[in-house]
Amino acid sequence: MVTMRSILLLGLSVICVGAAAQVGVGPQPVPLSNSVPAPRDIAFRGVVRMVVDASDTTHKIVNVHETIPVQAAGPMTLLYPQWEVASHSATVQVARLAGLIIRADDQRIDWTRDAIDMHAFHIDVPSGATTLDLDYQYLASGTPREGPPEMSRDILAMQWHTASVYPAGWFARDITVQASVKLPAGFQYATALTTDSFGNDVASFKPTTLEVLYDSPVYAGRYLKRVDLAPKAATPVTLNLFGDNLRNIDIGDAQITRYRAAVAEIEHTFASTHFDHYDLLVSLSDVLPSSGGTEHARSGEVGLPADYLGNESGHLPELDILWHEFIHSWNGLFRRPADMWTANANQPVRNSLLWVYEGQSEFWGRVIAARAGIRSIEATKDLFAIDAARMQARPGRRWKSLQDSNNDPVFMAKRAVAWRDWQRREDYYLEGPIFWLNIDSIIRERTGDTKGLDDFAKAFFGVNAGSQITTTYTFDDVCTTLNNVLPFDWSNFLRKRLDTHDDDGLLDGLAHAGYRLIFTTEPSDFYRQLESEDDVADLSYSIGLTVKSNGTVPVVAWNGPAFKSGLSNGAKITTINGAPFSVDLLKATISNAANGSINLGFKLDGQDQIAHIDYHGSLRYPHLQRISESKDRLVPLLQARRINPVSM
Ligand SMILES: [Zn+2]
Repeated sequence: MVTMRSILLLGLSVICVGAAAQVGVGPQPVPLSNSVPAPRDIAFRGVVRMVVDASDTTHKIVNVHETIPVQAAGPMTLLYPQWEVASHSATVQVARLAGLIIRADDQRIDWTRDAIDMHAFHIDVPSGATTLDLDYQYLASGTPREGPPEMSRDILAMQWHTASVYPAGWFARDITVQASVKLPAGFQYATALTTDSFGNDVASFKPTTLEVLYDSPVYAGRYLKRVDLAPKAATPVTLNLFGDNLRNIDIGDAQITRYRAAVAEIEHTFASTHFDHYDLLVSLSDVLPSSGGTEHARSGEVGLPADYLGNESGHLPELDILWHEFIHSWNGLFRRPADMWTANANQPVRNSLLWVYEGQSEFWGRVIAARAGIRSIEATKDLFAIDAARMQARPGRRWKSLQDSNNDPVFMAKRAVAWRDWQRREDYYLEGPIFWLNIDSIIRERTGDTKGLDDFAKAFFGVNAGSQITTTYTFDDVCTTLNNVLPFDWSNFLRKRLDTHDDDGLLDGLAHAGYRLIFTTEPSDFYRQLESEDDVADLSYSIGLTVKSNGTVPVVAWNGPAFKSGLSNGAKITTINGAPFSVDLLKATISNAANGSINLGFKLDGQDQIAHIDYHGSLRYPHLQRISESKDRLVPLLQARRINPVSM
């Protein structure tokens, strides 16, 4: 029976279907065209010259004059770099390039920015022209809002890829560049580049490839201390300390001995060197970034707090950064994941193997810092406990695998995320040490402790000893080398750990090494220092939040007790069971939670609210505990391996 109602319903459904899909109705897109020449492995004739003036630390403007030999008249594309090896991301900002004027033999020629690739500039080279002259500026970060500063009154950290433009169509290694930089008056400098001359504050470098230039930043400063970290080795390793003042770069003899031990331990572990000399470029500053590093093949950049050298024990979390970056000379630069290697700085980087590149560098950074006596074995254990606790508190694993986290730098680099435990930003760092500890322990368990990850490191990173030519690798290459150390189904093992969506076997690395994660009511010194660096009380493992002394809550754990009670990131706690908020009172209240209640008054989005937190435990802080019936494989891993002690 057809009723009026059914006719109406039929009509409605026809209209709805029509609204949902309209094939062939409306505009068609203009086809995307790629007019940027792809890089080719062919010779670029002549030498590109870059004359950089980085002396204006007041305005933080870097002026560049560049000459490029013309290869042919007609269409040509110039590129401003986009991808940076060390950030694994397209983090170079073309917005900071300004004032670009191009001349061909004194005749100004107009450029047109590519419609899709904002880093590409198209020009038409007139016939008969022999040289292009480019003038432009790089506008370095001047305020915290613009990003971390790259120069201060006393220190300059100059990256060539920010202050250069290069021709599209060639591999970076096929373009020869001769570069010079004018430094602020009186500055000294250090770099992996070979100096041709230095005078009147201008450092001129011997010609090199564009690839090497981009991998060789120049650090300069008013105060510089150089320390030879490999006095007996064939290849020099130099620690270059730049500080806000002389006091910051004062390093003690005992420290130098430990740093030399670290270099010796690393070169022993990797059984090779792949540089003719290596320079650690270190800023110790309250102005420049103070916790992080950037890797290169023949140098490593590290930013440390101004008081770091005078107060190493107060900087437990930073004690392995220098060595993490140095290790990257092998793991990341000499041996590079095949999909990460690109022909120039504008080709997209793919990061499928960052769990090796970064994950294993994190592992070795921990191990080397302990082997060299820079971080105690006890503090290293505390750090493994913190790693383990964080790994367990990653609900995001349910939707996002560790493998997917390898993509994070491309879209999350240098960006804060609101829900770190759910979004899992760059977890290959966090999970690396226990991931590789697991592999080390399996190898040692099954070889009667005659082999371990050291054998993998020697075999994998020690290939082509002395060679400075990057050797790429794939997932299968990792499995093959592991199989050569210990025949095992590594492919399945690794894929399971990388692709899993549950926590099964998550902390096997600890268990195989003879430890379990426990929680006690007292934080380790390491944990306290992390709290102090973030200026929070970290109650993530009890009520599930971090809180500042003024009651502000920077981070609420995803779906934890605080989350479920209605607290969210950015809330400000004002009262605890009716009394005014203080961190001490909150901790005391959590300690008594088994017998009492936790009612937090808080302000969020302008509203006063009350959170009734359903939590009946106590304060909880992560520690490692020995599994008494099992063999301790962690402590032997962290003990020095070299046979010969390092002398001053
Ligand atoms: Zn790294």
